[in-house]
Amino acid sequence: MAIYIEKPKCIGCKLCIPSCPYGAIDMVDGKAEFNDSCTSCGACAYACPTGAIVLEMAGKGEVDTSQYKGIWVVGEVTGEGKLAMVTAELIGEGRKLAAELDTDVSVVLIGHEIEDLAKRAAGYGADRVYLVEDPALKRYRTQPFTNVLTGLINEHKPEIVLIGATTMGRDLASRVAARIKAGLTADCTELTINPESKLLEQTRPAFGGNVMATILCEFTRPQMATVRPKVMAPMEFDESREAEIIRVPVSIDEKSIATKILEVIQDDSGSHVNLTEADIIVSGGRGLGDPKHFALIEELADAVGGAVGASRATVDAGWIPATHQVGQTGKTVHPKLYIACGISGAVQHLAGMSSSDCIVAINKDPEAPIFGVAHYGIVGDLFQVIPAMVAAIKERRGDSA
Ligand SMILES: Cc1cc2nc3c(=O)[nH]c(=O)nc-3n(C[C@H](O)[C@H](O)[C@H](O)COP(=O)(O)OP(=O)(O)OC[C@H]3O[C@@H](n4cnc5c(N)ncnc54)[C@H](O)[C@@H]3O)c2cc1C
Repeated sequence: MAIYIEKPKCIGCKLCIPSCPYGAIDMVDGKAEFNDSCTSCGACAYACPTGAIVLEMAGKGEVDTSQYKGIWVVGEVTGEGKLAMVTAELIGEGRKLAAELDTDVSVVLIGHEIEDLAKRAAGYGADRVYLVEDPALKRYRTQPFTNVLTGLINEHKPEIVLIGATTMGRDLASRVAARIKAGLTADCTELTINPESKLLEQTRPAFGGNVMATILCEFTRPQMATVRPKVMAPMEFDESREAEIIRVPVSIDEKSIATKILEVIQDDSGSHVNLTEADIIVSGGRGLGDPKHFALIEELADAVGGAVGASRATVDAGWIPATHQVGQTGKTVHPKLYIACGISGAVQHLAGMSSSDCIVAINKDPEAPIFGVAHYGIVGDLFQVIPAMVAAIKERRGDSA
């Protein structure tokens, strides 16, 4: 990748200067000129109104793949300023891949006043943390995060970049991959290193979940993948573990960012929908018979302090929004307790929940496949079983008079 300025086209408008997060553009004799801080992130090329700044990409097979080393995990910061669990999961997975490639794991943390998270990343297994802090990076926005991450990748050339398949990760990964002309495999559920080619084998559901496709990015670097939360296991947190912390100086002009965050509104339905973070999930299936009976599931979820999940049959029937769907084409979950109510246990549903620590199934059909994965099975009518469970829980808690 190369970036250069076609001087005759430069009109000296200076719009490129605030667009650069690395302070890499000076004006010399009324024309823009790069200094040594340029990372070829390309932000200025997008800001230039005359096309004077040209970003040249390598063609197929022209990338010198031998220059790219190391595994990177792009960290995610939660709304509460904590390290997202998916980051810990990816660091754990990164360690396994790094062992195969005999390399190390770096984490990129982008935000504002997040130094303590670098220590968390170290405790979860990072060897190195690139810490990028700026007030303009306090909350995720596509443009500045893309510019910063693209610049870092161009400068340090990691071989593999892993990002959580979260709302942020899906947005950021696709933008960065497009900017650096790398391939991207979205929503992976498995990652391995091919023992011969040493390429990253990226496996994900394809064709609506009917096949599992394994994808290779042979010609471009880095090999980029987003990975579903809760699929990979994090390492045990070790407070004594240390990482090299590299502070990356940036200076971001708020005026150069097209989007502004005016207000952060808490999603009130969060306690019922936040499936991937929930320790307890109560899921309803077609056995509920009617959308209004999801009230029973909510009641049980409230009683046990859990989130509400659903089978695809209920989502397809329009009984509940798709954000609740668990399974191959829904969310992969790994709660401590999963209660399946009126769910048959189709293989596609099991794909999203069978790794739960404890599964309780309520189904009136003793032959239902869900009992094959359940630790506790209740053969019975959910309309009798759920109210009895709720009453028993409330009684134990002393809720009832
Ligand atoms: C490509 C593809 C992807 C898919 N992805 C997903 C996915 O991500 N998630 C998913 O869930 N499905 C997925 N499916 C659909 C899946 O195959 C099943 O059709 C679906 O999971 C069935 O949902 P269900 O268990 O709610 O309904 P059913 O299979 O109809 O089961 C209803 C169950 O309720 C029981 N029941 C009925 N009445 C009562 C009662 N009163 N008390 C107790 N039990 C009762 C019945 O005995 C039955 O076992 C996918 C399918 C395909 C082809």
